[in-house]
Amino acid sequence: MSVIRILSENVANKIAAGEVVERPASVAKELVENSLDAGAQSVEVSVESGGRRLIRVSDDGCGMSRDDTLLAFERHATSKIKSAEDLDEIATLGFRGEALPSIAAVSRLTIETRHASEEVGTRLEISGGKFRSVKDAVRPCGTRIEVQSLFFNTPARRKFLRTESTELGHIASMVTHYALAHPDKAFRLASLTHEILKASPVTSHRERVYQVMGGQALEQLVEFGPMERPAPKFGPPGLEAEAEASPGAYKIFGFVSRPEVHKLNRNQIYFFVNRRLIRDRLVLHALTEAYRNILPAGVFPVALVFLDLPSREVDVNVHPSKAEVRFRNGSFVHDMVRDSVLQALMASRPVAAFPMPKQPQAPEAYPAGQHLEPYSPKQAGQPPQPWRPETEGPPKARGFHLSAPRPDPATQVLPLAEAALSTYAPPLASWSVPCSAAATSEPQVGEFPADLLPLGQIQSSFIVATNPEGLWIIDQHVAHERILFEQHLGRRQTSQMEGQRLLLPIVVDLGPQQRVAFQNIAEELAANGFEVEPFGQESVAVKAAPADIQPDDVERLVREILESLGRETQALSLDELRRKIAASVACHAAIKVNMPLDQEKMEWLLHELSRTDCPMTCPHGRPVVLRYDMKEIQKAFKRI
Ligand code: ADP
Ligand code: MG
Repeated sequence: MSVIRILSENVANKIAAGEVVERPASVAKELVENSLDAGAQSVEVSVESGGRRLIRVSDDGCGMSRDDTLLAFERHATSKIKSAEDLDEIATLGFRGEALPSIAAVSRLTIETRHASEEVGTRLEISGGKFRSVKDAVRPCGTRIEVQSLFFNTPARRKFLRTESTELGHIASMVTHYALAHPDKAFRLASLTHEILKASPVTSHRERVYQVMGGQALEQLVEFGPMERPAPKFGPPGLEAEAEASPGAYKIFGFVSRPEVHKLNRNQIYFFVNRRLIRDRLVLHALTEAYRNILPAGVFPVALVFLDLPSREVDVNVHPSKAEVRFRNGSFVHDMVRDSVLQALMASRPVAAFPMPKQPQAPEAYPAGQHLEPYSPKQAGQPPQPWRPETEGPPKARGFHLSAPRPDPATQVLPLAEAALSTYAPPLASWSVPCSAAATSEPQVGEFPADLLPLGQIQSSFIVATNPEGLWIIDQHVAHERILFEQHLGRRQTSQMEGQRLLLPIVVDLGPQQRVAFQNIAEELAANGFEVEPFGQESVAVKAAPADIQPDDVERLVREILESLGRETQALSLDELRRKIAASVACHAAIKVNMPLDQEKMEWLLHELSRTDCPMTCPHGRPVVLRYDMKEIQKAFKRI
């Protein structure tokens, strides 16, 4: 039974052409994609010398008949598409019929395969593109392809290969991605000396993430979805009718990191479209939007986003190695990614627990004058130690310590990691429930609770509170900042805001860049309750400001808004600009540290915080709350 055909010239010419065999990883990728397209349940990859000497991919997919095996090595021979129209609706990973001939042209390739319709399989050897032998092979259904001596006949390309470990690294990341996208399938990657990845079939993506990325990585992630939206019924002219007929649905799910996880680059952001790993600036932007005011500038989240959509909604025929796609409804995809990730972050409301993980400092510092006081050198860095005479040496009797002996780092981290893993196992978020509604239901573990009882403050700066879940410490300044931020933004989004007139206008001198920024945002400033007018060539006069701002803070606030925007103003969307202004106003209006609060004020603050959408991080991305789980407390006291 023959399924492969050679594409007509007309169709072949419509295919995005380009080099498919750049390096060992691209060979391995094409072969693994073929195995998946063949319906394999198990894919095994073996490599030697980073893939230069050998790449072997074995699968238990449908295999090929003898006729097809011979045909598969012709250019544009494929079983996956037939006509130019099929290019509009590609449901397979491959479709060009170019990989096998291209790989066979630059290596010594052996294929052994058998299709269920034939009793005996086929073994074919090709070297540098030339057929060497065709034989029978006794083997189960499925395919095994061995690619040896890659680029043996193109020494110039061989020279450009990177070190063995770099090439192996690329192959490992490729296999990992496909393993993440297909949890129901078995994957194995091994070199001559060791097994690099082994993942047996599991029933959920969560389990697969655990298998390939490990428990610690999973603990940093919030699972989201699946969320579905019907495909939009509009489309390019002429295609609306078709879209009407069977709109299909867009489905999204995945994992994103908690706000306290900060990565210094985007290397851990993965988007899969119909289980194909792709790069896409639009989706990246959507993710950035979701984390705006949650992550500080310059740091990045971890994300595994799986988007499944009807094949006609995405064009994969745009990039030679199929690493980029074009969406038919880009803005729909953008908004769906942004909304679902944002909702996931809000619903999970993660908490930083003790001890704080090491992470890069958020670039924003406390506003001037907000350092903790009184400051004594003893408090710098070190937690207070029990007093002991210097000459005595290490104490022998442990019983004299008032504080529990500090566990060594290893034992300290492990139980917390385990606890977090179980604590944070997210019940599948219900997508139709908006965050605010979710907050009124049973408090879930990991949410900011509404039943906190404030006990007092530490250094007039941090509120200590309890509830049956454990002990909570809340940074009063950033907590208030989060409350005011959401209030200010909420008000601005529904109306123009009235400011409070100042007794005397405050004149603020501006540099050239700030003057440009001012011109660009003057209108939005006015809508936020500022009355600011040009005053001479180089200054502005502020006549009114949002009501919560103290007059002597106004100058610094205006300056800060203009400075923080800098040259960005023209590139900023209105939404981004509003968020920046709201964040600055909130920061200046919020109560400061070193401020005693009475019981009523503390209760009010905690209550208001529990009503915010995102109570765990301030608009600049700093944590608002630390939690010491009851279980951890009991463990620390060796009660469990
Ligand atoms: P494409 O994947 O774009 O169709 P390839 O050159 O990669 O082109 O493969 C050519 C054809 O060979 C495929 O269309 C498929 O029919 C067949 N084929 C390749 N690899 C396998 C495999 N592992 N199992 C079954 N069939 C395969
Ligand atoms: Mg292919």
